[in-house]
Amino acid sequence: MLVRLDGGGVTAWGECVAGSDPYYGPETVDTAWHVTETFLAPLVLGIEFGHPREVFPALRRVRGHHMAKAALEMAAWDLHARQAGRPLAGVLGGTRTRVAAGVSVGIQDSLEQLVDRVGAEVAEGYQRVKIKVKPGWDLNAAAAVRQRFPDVPLMVDANAAYRLDEAEHLAGFDRFGLMMIEQPLDHDDIRDHAALQQRIATPVCLDESIQSVRLGRDAIDAGACRVINIKPGRVGGHGESLRLHDLCASRGVPVWHGGMLESGIGRAHNLHLSSLPNFTLPGDVAASRRYYEPDLIDPPIDVAPDGTIPVPQGLGIGVHVVDERVERATIRRQEIRT
Ligand code: MG
Repeated sequence: MLVRLDGGGVTAWGECVAGSDPYYGPETVDTAWHVTETFLAPLVLGIEFGHPREVFPALRRVRGHHMAKAALEMAAWDLHARQAGRPLAGVLGGTRTRVAAGVSVGIQDSLEQLVDRVGAEVAEGYQRVKIKVKPGWDLNAAAAVRQRFPDVPLMVDANAAYRLDEAEHLAGFDRFGLMMIEQPLDHDDIRDHAALQQRIATPVCLDESIQSVRLGRDAIDAGACRVINIKPGRVGGHGESLRLHDLCASRGVPVWHGGMLESGIGRAHNLHLSSLPNFTLPGDVAASRRYYEPDLIDPPIDVAPDGTIPVPQGLGIGVHVVDERVERATIRRQEIRT
């Protein structure tokens, strides 16, 4: 679901990262559509905001639905930046002009296929490789990749596939020199992750569990993670991402930018956010053509041979949204006016 905001003579874009199913988080495209149309839009339309930071608090009455809120809120940041005549990174407080790109490789049919796939990504220049793991496809997968690529910066993402009583098995990852293991335990857990982190040397990174800035604080306090993955859709937009970024920086916890199945519009937002100083680890900000052909933006977002992506320099998100492509991809539309 895309959100287009028109105001003050400019057009701005946001993208909702909810998928068609509720398997990453509870939201779906349909729930986001419903909540946006019925509850969120009336809270922001025609209201004067001095700054886009005020948008998320204005939606406070609606509980949860962070992905739907983020789509609106991030479009408001784009609108603000365009009205101010600045790139989005500038108004967010970004400091870098290029962002280090990592890539995420899903479960494959065979270990040979996995190693080949990782080889292809390394050849593209990606600065870090992440492999998805699950019971039965974990230590063997890491071993296969490590054998062929002993030095590649490597991490694993379990997407909540394990339980604390498997801690000893998970400690088996320690011998592979991984940058981190992402979300090994349940999607809403903090306490068991703290217990796990005590028993493994590999740094734990939390993704699904960090559904708000407060939960980020709780996780750091509990020792449940040493790294945090920031996804603005998960926490409610750029404003909350900035607060989480700053909290992590003050606690010495590095962050990186996670990825959903964004088109170039969502990816552009992610690049701008990733330009902030505490995004010190390569993010899942891979080339947009991996998922969309053609992308909704032109030119598409591409990774340079050195594994970096430039932060767009134009106004707002700084990418050209091709109206005809959006039109062609549209299956449903709702215009909401004041
Ligand atoms: Mg993840």
